Amino acid sequence: MMGEGPIHLGHPPSYDACQGTEIEMTSHLILEERPEGGIARVILNRPEARNAQNLPLLYALDDAFSRAMADPAVRVVLLEAAGPDFSSGHDLRQSLDMAEGASFRGASHNDLVHEPNGLGYMAREEEVYLGLCRKWRDLPKPTIAAVQGRCIAGGLMLAWVCDLIVAAEDALFIDPVVAMGVSGVEWFAHPWELGARKAKEMLFTGDAIDAREALSRGMVNHVVPRHSLSDFALDMARRIATRPPHALAAVKKAVNETLDIQGQRTAIELAFRIHHLTHYHNMQQHGMLGDPSGTPGAKPVLPRK
Ligand code: ZN
Repeated sequence: MMGEGPIHLGHPPSYDACQGTEIEMTSHLILEERPEGGIARVILNRPEARNAQNLPLLYALDDAFSRAMADPAVRVVLLEAAGPDFSSGHDLRQSLDMAEGASFRGASHNDLVHEPNGLGYMAREEEVYLGLCRKWRDLPKPTIAAVQGRCIAGGLMLAWVCDLIVAAEDALFIDPVVAMGVSGVEWFAHPWELGARKAKEMLFTGDAIDAREALSRGMVNHVVPRHSLSDFALDMARRIATRPPHALAAVKKAVNETLDIQGQRTAIELAFRIHHLTHYHNMQQHGMLGDPSGTPGAKPVLPRK
């Protein structure tokens, strides 16, 4: 939820993903490479905005993942980010508010997604944040995130839905949105990724978790020097890509369903509803989706236009 940096001006404000032209119009936001056989590399490419996630970027990322899944030559997907930071989170300057003029694909087949009210806003966040994360967590091919620099709020969501995470030594993982009067990010995996006690500290204080601590908590798989991050992740992908694809898909499903049997899916769903109660509360109390009192001196969060 925490965007910063200038708005990218390279795409039209009336972008309409329903018109079938999104690949051409948004390709600069996401780069796709096939560095070698069996491997797709997908790169967040909005470094001037610290890879803040706006709607076109998220849909372009979904398109890139879809192409990698549809390509039988691809066995493993790398998610990387251009610039010094992995992602500063959701782009608050281009919110999901209807007044932004953005279009939604309606992948959830929920007509509320077009309504300018509380349930409509929840439907939009459910499609774009919760829904895409759920879809990406369950992609049938292994995914590896390579994270450098700051990984803030919505950035955590992108890293967490990948199967493996390799962190550069300078990586920092931060969820500051409780200060904005909201109960953490929409993909509420903190207790699953860090354990309940550390998750509470992260959420209560907004303090960063550095790469070494993330490793000690099992939140990331490896910590490597910044200059070798991409090569290290590529080497992991290379070794995984030698395994039979059907076995990789099966074992991924087995692990994810183990989490779901433990309650992860239901817990994240419930946390999403609680998240929207905080948005609703803030709308009643402050006329905006966040509480400006928790961030003194900061600009109001997600102003309603
Ligand atoms: Zn939200």
